[in-house]
Amino acid sequence: MTRIINSNDIQYMKNYIISLYKKFIPIKAISPDLGGDGEAERADILEKELRSLGLVARRVDAPDKRAKKGIRPNILAMVNGERKDKTLWIVAHIDTVPEGDPALWKYPPYSVTVIDDYVYGRGVEDDGQAVVTAFAVAKYLVEKGIRPRINLGIALVSDEETGSRYGLRYLVDKGVFNDYGGSHYFLVPDAGSPDGSKVIVAEKHILHMRVVTKGKQTHASMPHTGLNAHRLGMMFNLELDKAFREKFTEYDEVYEPPVSTCEPTRKEENIGNINTIPGTDVVYWDCRILPKREIRDVIELAKSLAFKFSSATGAHVDIDVLGYDDAGEPTRLDSPFVAGFLDAIRETRGVEPRPIGIGGGTVARYLRKHGYPAIVWMTCDETAHQPNEYTRLSYIISDIDTILYYLLKKAT
Ligand SMILES: [Zn+2]
Repeated sequence: MTRIINSNDIQYMKNYIISLYKKFIPIKAISPDLGGDGEAERADILEKELRSLGLVARRVDAPDKRAKKGIRPNILAMVNGERKDKTLWIVAHIDTVPEGDPALWKYPPYSVTVIDDYVYGRGVEDDGQAVVTAFAVAKYLVEKGIRPRINLGIALVSDEETGSRYGLRYLVDKGVFNDYGGSHYFLVPDAGSPDGSKVIVAEKHILHMRVVTKGKQTHASMPHTGLNAHRLGMMFNLELDKAFREKFTEYDEVYEPPVSTCEPTRKEENIGNINTIPGTDVVYWDCRILPKREIRDVIELAKSLAFKFSSATGAHVDIDVLGYDDAGEPTRLDSPFVAGFLDAIRETRGVEPRPIGIGGGTVARYLRKHGYPAIVWMTCDETAHQPNEYTRLSYIISDIDTILYYLLKKAT
């Protein structure tokens, strides 16, 4: 079914993918923020592998004293195309999340178990799949001596799971891609669907905030002598919930889900015993806002409501903004990169691509904020972060074929 890779090459390619997985999946690459040593050891293996493909590997490591060798590694490599003023970068993050409860795994998480078409292990999908896909595309081009229409770049980045400060954001902020001149297209294989039709071209704004409601602690048998922060907190948070739904009614069917969402999530324990009226109530909110609205709109709504509620009840409600991240402009569907890549999906897969926006955050948002066209795409069952994470060799082969088809037939 592949358009570029012939059937004789498929087994050869699968063997390469498995052997590559076995080289790097057993070497844990967990962020110091999650209690790990960082990605340095895994990066060394992958750098060596790039060199063995005959590519020049450039290191742009970010300093981080907490990590092994004091760095968070990032590696760039390139296969030259017929025209050198355009580059398709495949971005693969090399860090993973921990395996979680080992008892939930059918196979050991770090030994790469292959059963028929399935490959099991922590990080084989998220985001080892992007690593093996990018390497196999490069290997194919180098070994066959084929020049793609435009350059193929490989960007191996650290720290995706804990904010990309030492990874892609570090590279973009340093202007590293501009060193290569010309225009840059970004493919981020880090999410997708089983038929390869899902293409993520946009994200929502993200806002995290904390609502602290203060009343007055007292004995539970004498509630009139205090002010129950738990009850008032519930009242306020429900009021905020309702106001949000009334004020943020925009609908955009490009997004999954098609509306802004604002959800109360974490709740701090207020008091350790039952017979005390709590004086403080703390609730956290996670908001995902359609880009046509502004993050400020949500903060202003929460703060004005908090002020009115406090004056009416005698409680004191504070809104703390813990963090926010602007989504940037959605990637345009009529950009030459996106139009060409969607054609490649259509023609190699026989499916109609579905460009969508999501509420989750990927590294693509940092690229979009700098005006680069970026799409998140791969073929997968979305098993990231789960026990028994797996992917399928046939998915990877299909993706390699679609990317090669784009590079050899569609790229302009
Ligand atoms: Zn990922």
